[in-house]
Amino acid sequence: MELPKHRVILTQEQIQARIPELARQIEQDMGTENPLVVVVLKGAFIFAADLIRNFNFPHQVDFISISSYGSATESTGVVKLLKDLDEPIKGRTVLLVEDIVDTGLTLHYLYEMLKIREPKRIEVAAFLSKKARREYNVPVKFVGFEVPNVFVVGYGLDYKQMYRNLPFVIGIEE
Ligand code: 5GP
Repeated sequence: MELPKHRVILTQEQIQARIPELARQIEQDMGTENPLVVVVLKGAFIFAADLIRNFNFPHQVDFISISSYGSATESTGVVKLLKDLDEPIKGRTVLLVEDIVDTGLTLHYLYEMLKIREPKRIEVAAFLSKKARREYNVPVKFVGFEVPNVFVVGYGLDYKQMYRNLPFVIGIEE
């Protein structure tokens, strides 16, 4: 499979070393609360799969799907709910698992939407964060890596719906 012009941002080894560390931090924070792990589709599915296989505490998993980007690399500023959670979250501890927090718009929308349902608390685990781009201030407690302001692809993140299977992360050079 030919890759677009790129540079490697995170190697497979770096990623695989970080995941158990994050899982341990999360366990310390909510390991006794039987959290509901809410995976934000599609981008977070690989990260979430690796993360929860490092969990040694009771938890459940649900999925939510929203869209904020088309197939282009720039945000449209519009968030649409495509698939809601299957179960109520009232009184529960929720771990929202995201692929990347860029402007924060998507997360802000999700956070506010779920908060109305009166969970005990909502914490966020994001594989990647682009702090320089932040416009919405949403608390992200667990961050895998800070990345520079480039369009990143791989480990669940797509480029025109492709390359989600890459075990490493690349930055696209236009
Ligand atoms: P935000 O709403 O924070 O601006 O953008 C969040 C969503 O946009 C992410 O969940 C992700 O789907 C997409 N996104 C933002 N930056 C990137 C990027 O560099 N690469 C890819 N593949 N998706 C991105």
